[in-house]
Amino acid sequence: MFWRKKKSAYSEDAPGETRSAAPARADRSEDTAIIAAVHRKMAQQTAHSASSFAAPAGAGSAVVREIDHFMDGVMRRNPGEPEFHQAVFEFVETVMPYYMDHQGYRKARILERMTEPDRAIMFRVTWEDDQGVPHANKGYRVQFNSSMGPYKGGLRFDPSVNLSVLKFLGFEQTFKNALTRLPMGGGKGGADFHPKGRSDGEIMRFCHAMMSELFRHIGESVDVPAGDIGVGAREIGYLFGKYKQLANHYTGGVLTGKGLSFGGSEIRKEATGYGVVIFTEEMLKKHGKSMKDKTVVVSGSGNVAIYAVQRAMQLGGKVIAVSDSQGFAHVPNGFDEDTFSILQDVKEVRRERLTSFANKARGVSYQAGKSPWTVPCEVGLPCATQNEIDEQMAHVMVKNGIEIVSEGANMPLTAQAIHVLKKANVIFGPAKAANAGGVGCSGLEQAQNAQRLIWTREQVEQELIKIMKSIHEQCVEYAPVKNGVVDYQAGANISSFARVADAMVGYGYV
Ligand code: NDP
Repeated sequence: MFWRKKKSAYSEDAPGETRSAAPARADRSEDTAIIAAVHRKMAQQTAHSASSFAAPAGAGSAVVREIDHFMDGVMRRNPGEPEFHQAVFEFVETVMPYYMDHQGYRKARILERMTEPDRAIMFRVTWEDDQGVPHANKGYRVQFNSSMGPYKGGLRFDPSVNLSVLKFLGFEQTFKNALTRLPMGGGKGGADFHPKGRSDGEIMRFCHAMMSELFRHIGESVDVPAGDIGVGAREIGYLFGKYKQLANHYTGGVLTGKGLSFGGSEIRKEATGYGVVIFTEEMLKKHGKSMKDKTVVVSGSGNVAIYAVQRAMQLGGKVIAVSDSQGFAHVPNGFDEDTFSILQDVKEVRRERLTSFANKARGVSYQAGKSPWTVPCEVGLPCATQNEIDEQMAHVMVKNGIEIVSEGANMPLTAQAIHVLKKANVIFGPAKAANAGGVGCSGLEQAQNAQRLIWTREQVEQELIKIMKSIHEQCVEYAPVKNGVVDYQAGANISSFARVADAMVGYGYV
């Protein structure tokens, strides 16, 4: 749009260029105090510490006050939703200077409108266990923003699922999907159902019960769910089967992550993990480095983690740890083909715990109750869940010589942890850019379904690489550079914000 200013205006390494509208920084300690106050307010609703919260790099006092004021409104309108506050805060702290420079966006109150979901649907999911006992769970679908296309985002089955978690995920998804440049809006859903230890029959009955309400709200041009934590190809199969029965039509494009035999795409299973590593390699290349021979720690051992391990191995990285919610498996000599196939078999075929992998693989030990981030490494790929790395752990990682952290999971670092890494000039890849390969490939699955064609593995992989490289370029285009390190967090946020904002301005006040 004509009022958009160029990204490089925000680069601290471009001293000749300054933002036109944002006032000069008045008093750094005052900025820090205001941001600390914002964070204290957030901390009242979270378990996070409010200490040592630095003002956004390069932000003036007026910007910081605006962030404070804006966050007050977000917290007032969305009480008791700490994950959502956190996601919005991490976004606005980098986007606010850009927003303040663009009066067209401000006039249309884009930021206020963009932090309000289009709608959030809650419903009861009643299902029967193997003993014939009925259970009721809470089911949700948050349709966050459809400016860029039909709502798109995964379903999560986990006891921690609530409205706050799904609003944070739906908000993030909106901007992640915009970065792919495919026609996809943002949404997220799921249930507080605990799938661990449930039989196949129980999983099937739960999925069918979930879809018996969800089917009213989805459709290939309306809302297209996929998998997430606790929802893999098996669950998508049960969900799709029920949808097909209820709707009485076969519409492949209504769900993604489907099995290959009924409309799924090659590489979808691998896409998020592969994408994270492709993006990480691009970041490393930009800074004159590469993955080859670097020590790599991957957290989690689910869908994203497994394929991040494989792609890192393919690029010559030495992957020395993976984890689960109970501890981590230490692989001091690094994964090789044998170790990797044992991991795949344990997690994907047998659906066993990581302890079983450690028992079966030679030279691997399981460290119960410990974090994988205590293991010194150069490349960190957190691929488990939100807020797994806090400020304290980030300090440990910096002390151990970490060079780059790229988020495979959604929001695995707290805001303070990100600040610690950035301050230490660690390259940081934010989730909305780094893990967009999964939804990017879902977009390719939808394209294949619409064409009624099946692309080859090579074709899909090439498209995935193109998507990840294009996201990297978009981030770099909008990112400030500090001490020679590209601020990918700011780049991803500003670039995706501009894309969604332009569409919202174009639609008028809807
Ligand atoms: P999975 O369910 O396949 O795996 C999740 C992994 O994280 C498991 O190893 C699990 O261990 C571990 N985990 C869960 N909770 C915790 C916890 N509190 N502490 C430590 N480890 C934990 O999920 P995915 O791999 O699909 O998703 C992982 C992350 O990636 C999520 O944040 C998701 O939103 C994100 N993501 C996923 C995409 C996808 O395509 N699947 C796309 C984009 C993002 P355990 O088995 O012990 O529970």
